[in-house]
Amino acid sequence: MINITLPDGSVRQYEAGVTAYDVAASISQGLAKAVISAEVNGEVVDLSLPINKDASLKLLKFDDPNGKKTFWHSSAHLMAEALEFYYPGVKFWVGPPVDNGFYYDVDLGDNKLSAEDLEKVEKKMKELAAQDNKYTRSEMPKAEAVKYFTEKGDEYKLDLLHNLNDGEITFYTQGKFTDLCRGPHIPSTGFIKAIKLTNIAGAYWKGDEKNKQLTRIYGITYPKQQQLDEYVNMLEEAKKRDHRLLGKELEIFTFDDEVGPGLPLWLPKGGALIEKLEALAKKNEQEQGYVRVKSPHIAKDSLYIRSGHLPYYAESMFPPMEMEGHKYYLKAMNCPHHHKIFGATPKSYRDMPLRFAEYGTCYRYEQSGELFGLMRVRSLQMNDAHIYCTKEQFEEEFMKVNDLYVKYFKIFGIDKYQMRFSTHAPEKLGQKYINNPEMWQQTEDMVRKVLQKSGLPFVEVADEAAFYGPKIDIQIWSAIGREFTIATNQVDFAQAERFDLSFTNDKNEKERPLIIHRAPLSTHERFIGFLLEHYAGKFPLWLSPEQVAILPISEKFNDYGKEVRDSLKKLGIEATLDERPEKIGRKIRDTEIRKVPYMLVVGEKEMNDKAVAIRRQGQGDQGTKPLTDFIAQIQQEIAEYK
Ligand SMILES: [Zn+2]
Ligand SMILES: [Zn+2]
Repeated sequence: MINITLPDGSVRQYEAGVTAYDVAASISQGLAKAVISAEVNGEVVDLSLPINKDASLKLLKFDDPNGKKTFWHSSAHLMAEALEFYYPGVKFWVGPPVDNGFYYDVDLGDNKLSAEDLEKVEKKMKELAAQDNKYTRSEMPKAEAVKYFTEKGDEYKLDLLHNLNDGEITFYTQGKFTDLCRGPHIPSTGFIKAIKLTNIAGAYWKGDEKNKQLTRIYGITYPKQQQLDEYVNMLEEAKKRDHRLLGKELEIFTFDDEVGPGLPLWLPKGGALIEKLEALAKKNEQEQGYVRVKSPHIAKDSLYIRSGHLPYYAESMFPPMEMEGHKYYLKAMNCPHHHKIFGATPKSYRDMPLRFAEYGTCYRYEQSGELFGLMRVRSLQMNDAHIYCTKEQFEEEFMKVNDLYVKYFKIFGIDKYQMRFSTHAPEKLGQKYINNPEMWQQTEDMVRKVLQKSGLPFVEVADEAAFYGPKIDIQIWSAIGREFTIATNQVDFAQAERFDLSFTNDKNEKERPLIIHRAPLSTHERFIGFLLEHYAGKFPLWLSPEQVAILPISEKFNDYGKEVRDSLKKLGIEATLDERPEKIGRKIRDTEIRKVPYMLVVGEKEMNDKAVAIRRQGQGDQGTKPLTDFIAQIQQEIAEYK
């Protein structure tokens, strides 16, 4: 008999060789029907894989992130089967799951896919799904597999095989389709009830433009039709709120060919938005005892070798500049600089915790094909901070970071959010993860405890931690239900060692600090991109880059308009004056397009009474008030983040 430990800590006994499916069925038939794959000791596997030793087991349904991955990757196989039906001889590269669905990179030879072809393939997929074919796993010796694909002339699979060892070569078959694949997969195609192929794009083999261009076909599938319908509706709404369109229309940001792709230029209104976000961050960080630091945009390669970014992260960095016999890199992260600042002066336990904050600008190399508006860029300004603390302080510090997130979510009207807690995989210690099992155990336990205590919704995902510690990705949903990953918190017990950072503890011994990396307001680029969609461009008053527009009824009242504008501007309120010789109706319409929260119409009566006639966006006419009353009202609203 073996012991199977479930996520709630309960232990159940089974005969050796039991499968995850058997375990599910022994709990309830309903569960057995809903599970699609399983995590055994943190590794995602087929439900049918025999478990021969004591193990921890998590049964995965579609709503689990790893369940989704299995589901969508299996759907890529289903699409491949449909493609092979219509295009015999088609060759397949890789078909991974992505954030929303999956894709497969395929070599269709001389065939080109049209929108109609895509429909045809989608229809075939539905037919094949309904056959409820099982995904079955088989193994093959490497030599045999190489021979098979050599005869078939499939250079792609041969390339994949090249990196595999004998004994780890597995194939999966469903229906008439067989693919070289590591798995895991869902039990059968019948789980896939709703299918949509969404897009076709070109993709160079291995992302290298010197290689052949393959066809990348995207799709998404669900276990229920209703889930797909909701997803499609959401996409339509998202199109209307596309941050690239709104950003242009509202004059927030632009790109310029001579500046370069992925390098956004912030127009004055974008600049105003950024100032307000930074003011919010600085106020809260000040209240929580952060101190502000500043670091240069470049550093010698030696810094990044010490941090470990080089050579592992080199692909994501801009190529180096040579100067005075040294290589200099644009910084891709602020952390190494902050660690140097920590190490610059001796520290004692009385100094701890230390919280270094910087809205640091980083530069990352993204392939030009991957760039996307503000969401994927090459220069980014991050709401960064690093908290250096003792083990005893960790819980409280991490709790405070979480509180800050929740506070921001409230301010921005973000109702749905989730912490995605990524842990390590014990069998990958020393390779994917730094080899320090005790620290992994300790920090993961601490993070889990804080997450449970804080009551924040979270999911735990094995084998997705950072190299040097567990991480928490913060996922938020916009007003239309689209998911964004805005920020990542990391707990880091390795960098202190690499940078030889220490403080003197109360026993007069040197001790390494723990480091928390956090960026609740994300980068300006990603967060403003999110906010544009979230608010559909209608920023709340406190955040709006144009808070008040003053519209004189005729040119005669421009001077009074100026007086109103200047008294607002003196108080830091973003106010503009429309001095054009246009009719008031036209001025109001033009201002509405800019989604300005307040319009103040001024004419003879307002001028004589030192008053303003107020129009609130979305609410219309609000009557006339003395200017001083309006100012008091708007200041109050701004202070309350309305
Ligand atoms: Zn597969
Ligand atoms: Zn960091």
